[in-house]
Amino acid sequence: MNGIITAQPDLCKRCYGCIRECPAKAILVVNGQASIVQERCIACGHCIKVCTQGAKKITPGISDDFEKALNSGLAIAIVAPSFAASWHSNYGKVPSALRKLGFIKVIEAAFGADLISPLYAKELETSEVKPIISSSCPAVCNYIQKYRPELVPNLAKIVSPMGAAARYIRSLYGDTIHIAFIGPCTAKKSEILNGGLNGIINSVFTFKEIKNIISDAGINIDEVEEGPFDEPHAYMGKTYPLAGGLLKTAELSGDILEKEIIVVEGKSKTLMMLDEIAHNQINAKFVDVLFCEGCISGPGIDSSLNYYSRREKIIEYVKDSLNEVDKKVWQTDMYNSRDLDLTTEFRNTDQRRQIPDEETLERILKSINKSSEGDRLNCGACGYFTCREFAITVGKELAEKEMCLPYLIDELQNAYESLRTTQEQLHSAEKLASIGQLAAGIAHEINNPLGTIMLYASLISRQIDKLENSAGCKDDVSVIMNEAHRCKNIVANLLNFARQGKLALNSFDIFNMVADILKKLKPQPFFQNIKVELNLDSDDPIIEADKEQIEQVLLNLMMNAAEAMENSIEKNLEINISDISSEKIKIVVSDTGCGIEKENYKNIFTPFFTTKKIGKGTGLGMAIAYGIIKMHHGEITFESTVGKGSAFTVTLYKHISLSNSLIN
Ligand code: ADP
Ligand code: MG
Repeated sequence: MNGIITAQPDLCKRCYGCIRECPAKAILVVNGQASIVQERCIACGHCIKVCTQGAKKITPGISDDFEKALNSGLAIAIVAPSFAASWHSNYGKVPSALRKLGFIKVIEAAFGADLISPLYAKELETSEVKPIISSSCPAVCNYIQKYRPELVPNLAKIVSPMGAAARYIRSLYGDTIHIAFIGPCTAKKSEILNGGLNGIINSVFTFKEIKNIISDAGINIDEVEEGPFDEPHAYMGKTYPLAGGLLKTAELSGDILEKEIIVVEGKSKTLMMLDEIAHNQINAKFVDVLFCEGCISGPGIDSSLNYYSRREKIIEYVKDSLNEVDKKVWQTDMYNSRDLDLTTEFRNTDQRRQIPDEETLERILKSINKSSEGDRLNCGACGYFTCREFAITVGKELAEKEMCLPYLIDELQNAYESLRTTQEQLHSAEKLASIGQLAAGIAHEINNPLGTIMLYASLISRQIDKLENSAGCKDDVSVIMNEAHRCKNIVANLLNFARQGKLALNSFDIFNMVADILKKLKPQPFFQNIKVELNLDSDDPIIEADKEQIEQVLLNLMMNAAEAMENSIEKNLEINISDISSEKIKIVVSDTGCGIEKENYKNIFTPFFTTKKIGKGTGLGMAIAYGIIKMHHGEITFESTVGKGSAFTVTLYKHISLSNSLIN
């Protein structure tokens, strides 16, 4: 079923005004777009009233055979009494305009109100149910059937004025005519689908819709002569669209000191009243409830007047037209309807969803950063009055977490931060890759001449051995050879950084490796006074990698950590080895050293970047580590706080062959 009200997702601007307004919690937001859960909707139309974007549409009330009936002189219009507020400047012309459109008769729905009023008076006298709830407002009936089914027995089993008028007309004119109801109400459209009016009323239009049909037919209502409604004429039923109209028509008391009879209008008061009745707090015998502030505030009223001016218009119309009613004819019409069945039935069509338990609610609240009472702003931006109410709706799967504005802002902030970090990492990886290319090119070029230098230097060295008094020369040549060797090392490191080295894979225990490195480092003078802690949280610390290269990475990390703690009062080196998954392991090396300045973050893995004194740092340790870890398809990252310390994390696949299959 298409439903009486439908959402237009492309027009929705996510203000959530409709959610705030919807008494049935029938609006579901999916991926930020509001849609209507039709089986929950009570068709009250409050969402239409608040949607400034026109993102809620009323399904047109035109049934297929409406136009045919109109053109063949078979259509009869029943007009709700609030028409006077809708056509406030020319309501006297409405009957003629509708007849000009093609309706053969234009009849006041208020006559239906006259018909049912005595039934209310009777029900009040005889019913054992307390309180009786009026059933003239279809939105109220829908709400009770779906959300207060325990009150279904309280609903008066009497048709609405529209239904009563239609049954009367149908009894006069038979099955061939097409009855169209015209009013301010969207819920009336749902009423003809159920409530025993199926086949009695054929179409339902709002005032706005019929105005469009009139103007589309080229009829200018201002140019039409005034004219009366067709018979049967209505009497006091004309007051129905005003609060208390039913009581007046049924000649029931409207005294404010009268506790037995209560009139309630408007959404929030209606909901409050139904709640009170459900909790047995109300002693009244009869409650007249209207979901809107009188039918003159219905969503299809289409009037530029405010509430009070509309009310005045109705009073003006009632007073004027009552004078013209021939009471005798009216009484005859009423008498002729004595055998009409004006009863109806209501059903329990429960749509309530289970309220999530406390544990689930707390979990939902926590997931939107609202663990404590202090975090719960109850700002209402989501469309719900409190964070708790919102969480309940999320738990009922009728709302999504992203509707919470503070949560969304936090999430956006996080997404922005992570995007920025990723961007920086990408930028730095790109930079390192191009440095790597350059370094590899230079290294290859230098490697050959270096080899030649070393070869000839060793030849010279051997020739010098044969000479007498050659000690000085020999020392000079050995300087050449040492320096060339140093260059060769640098070149090899650069090739490692450029990931152009080769991997000699072995399986080994990474925990044992770290323990061995520490054993070698501890006796060194620069390692004195450092408190070392090594932790393992893995049942399987065996990895497949290039043992020598990984050893170099870990050694570089530990040396840097020790150097960073040179001037620290507390010197703690902690190495934690733990599983990330069955496939990945991480080694975190943290220190309580000087930390890294933010501006240096981007340079840490750049070859030759060092903050150490000349001769102390080469700036290659981290570049080499980066290259080696990348060759292993792993990750190396760090976190640091200046003055507190740094933590470098190396992530490795336990089986490098697996990493290849995952990566390639
Ligand atoms: P080097 O140690 O020769 O300076 P590295 O490549 O090993 O070169 O390190 C580069 C730079 O990174 C260091 O000079 C230092 O500024 C910074 N660094 C690396 N590790 C740490 C650490 N644990 N604490 C503080 N700074 C560090
Ligand atoms: Mg270093």
